Amino acid sequence: MRHECPISSFRHGCSWGRPGVVLEMGLDLHTHSTASDGSLTPGELVLAAKRRGLDGLALTDHDSVEGLDEAIRVGTELEFPVVPGIELTTDFGDEEVHILGYGIQWRRLCLREKLERIIASREERARGMVERLKRAGIHLSWEAVRAGTSGKFIGRPHIYHAMKESGLIGEDPLRKSFEYYLGKHGVAYLPHQEIGTFEAVELIRSVEGIPVLAHPGRMTNLSILPKLCQHGLAGLEVYYPSHTPSQIRRFCRSAKRYGLLLTGGSDYHGSNGRTELGEAQAPTELLNQLRSNG
Ligand code: AMP
Ligand code: MN
Ligand code: MN
Ligand code: MN
Repeated sequence: MRHECPISSFRHGCSWGRPGVVLEMGLDLHTHSTASDGSLTPGELVLAAKRRGLDGLALTDHDSVEGLDEAIRVGTELEFPVVPGIELTTDFGDEEVHILGYGIQWRRLCLREKLERIIASREERARGMVERLKRAGIHLSWEAVRAGTSGKFIGRPHIYHAMKESGLIGEDPLRKSFEYYLGKHGVAYLPHQEIGTFEAVELIRSVEGIPVLAHPGRMTNLSILPKLCQHGLAGLEVYYPSHTPSQIRRFCRSAKRYGLLLTGGSDYHGSNGRTELGEAQAPTELLNQLRSNG
């Protein structure tokens, strides 16, 4: 297990959209494809990662494993390591807690069935948000929202995109409209009710995956960490585009204290997001511990 905190090989920018100097390549363990809310297909994403010179990639779509067959297949064809992953969204009180899972057995029926229920619950939530928009005087058709999805998965980015396509909001370069309508305190926001936080950790364990707490720097506090560890958490996403060097040092200390792996990734969403592929990375040696096709 790796516990030193390599700030010197802090191979990424430390704020949104500000890529740093790339010293050497590692793994990008946090990416999204069209199977959730990214703009590249799983195959395009793997090809882009190889072209960028990364040593490997994990596909971690929100609440979906639909892109994994294609990502693994293309990775094998290109002889490029791909780790099958997922990112589960949970709410814990006022805090959004995202749990990444690596090396999961994604074809298992128990996982598929649970994800189907999660996706159905997401659809109900999205319909509720469209309804709340309507009550606020914003008439967005459900068909317009669905037209922007490429699979069953639906989330706030699809509603936001449909609002733009329907001319209900403008360019919104600072994403103020997103916050106003769909942000946590926005007029149409509805919380996630799909899966409990500890349940998410246990679900990943139940399909032989490695559960990791995503972007701790986006949380208001980390008091949940000891409990997550009791439920089987195995890693902390220390390297993340918006994490500052002092946050990284703090998360390294927490990881050491609880015996957690140090992971990292860019949270790349293609043109739907604000980060570059490889903007934050994890050390290549980690590949031995995460089940990949490589
Ligand atoms: P959901 O999972 O439905 O709650 O949607 C959350 C997703 O919305 C995140 O994964 C991001 O891709 C996207 N997102 C979150 N905040 C913003 C923002 N301020 N502007 C644009 N997209 C955002
Ligand atoms: Mn997203
Ligand atoms: Mn997340
Ligand atoms: Mn993500």
